This record gives sequence, structure tokens and C-alpha cells, in this order.
Amino acid sequence: LRARAAIAEHERTVPDFPKPGILFRDLTPVLADTEGFSSIVTALTHGCSGVDLVAGIDARGFLVGGAVAQELEVGILAVRKGGKLPPPVYGVDYDLEYGTGRLEIPASGIDITGRRVLIVDDVLATGGTAVAASKLMGLAGASVVGVAVIMELADLGGRARIAAELGPDVSLHA
Ligand code: 5GP
Repeated sequence: LRARAAIAEHERTVPDFPKPGILFRDLTPVLADTEGFSSIVTALTHGCSGVDLVAGIDARGFLVGGAVAQELEVGILAVRKGGKLPPPVYGVDYDLEYGTGRLEIPASGIDITGRRVLIVDDVLATGGTAVAASKLMGLAGASVVGVAVIMELADLGGRARIAAELGPDVSLHA
């Protein structure tokens, strides 16, 4: 409830960004608010168990994911947009609400085989990003146990897509 109030107070909505017809929900001011950031991290961490790695999605998922990982006392893996990491990488291409995207993680220097991963991002829209991140974890031998987002755009069907593609056992914290 504290998180909901902070989002309602500080969220900025931007019409026609990044494309005409898209109403962009900007949570930057919420995260910059002391109460907003702490209440969101608390809400996303609440009831989370059995997680031994957090994967934060580029870029706002890094901010919240790092704090959630600290609360859960586990490590944080940055899931990068395509082209940011040196090779070798695991990569997954996917469709976005607006355009296409690619997510990558390192394929060397880190072994996440068998880890139980919580994916963290700011906004869940169509679910394509969360599903792509989950495929990436699968390529690296890890399994996704949950997806945590600050805000779910319920009209875009992300929750149903996650249930359909990742299975009913993957919990969604929104
Ligand atoms: P999806 O893949 O679920 O369609 O879109 C979610 C991804 O796109 C997230 O990484 C999120 O950061 C970004 N995104 C999509 N729509 C919005 C929005 O309205 N506001 C923000 N902040 N991010 C969005």
C-alpha cells in the first residue's frame, strides 16, 4: 500500500513515447523518492523465498534488482541489452511492445547452472521481455522461480503470457 501510494504520487505518464500511441509510464521519480524506493523494494521482497540469484533487466531493473538482491541476501546478475557485453554471451532476440530487442548475459566467467532466479524489472507490459530473460536463464542452465515488477500494465496481457510460457509455478510479484 505504501508503494502504491508512492507510485500514485510520483509516477509520470508520457503520451506518445517512445512511439505514437504508446502511453509511457515513467517510474524514475518514484525511485528517486526515499519512501517510494524503500516501499517498492520491501513490497517486491515480501513473500519471496527459494531465490538464490536476482536477474535485473537493463536498465531500471538494475536499480530495483540490486536492492532486492541485497534484501534477499543473494547476488545480482545484470541482464544487458544487446551489444553491451564482450563475447562470449548468451543472447535471446524478442518482440517488444514497440519494436524488437535482444537481451544478453555473459557466457564465460560466471556459472549460474542450477540457480533459482528471480527476474526483476520496472514494468511488465506484454511479457516479452520477462519471457526472453527467462529463456536466457534457461540457456545458462538456471531456472526462473519468479518475476517481480514494480508495475503491471494489466491490459497488455503479460501475466497470462508468463503463466503460459513459463508455467504456473513461476510466481509474479507486481
Ligand atoms: P514487455 O516486454 O513486457 O512488453 O515490456 C516491458 C519492458 O519494456 C520492460 O523492460 C520495461 O522497462 C519496458 N516498458 C514497456 N512499457 C513501458 C512503460 O510504459 N514504462 C516503462 N518505464 N517501461 C516500459
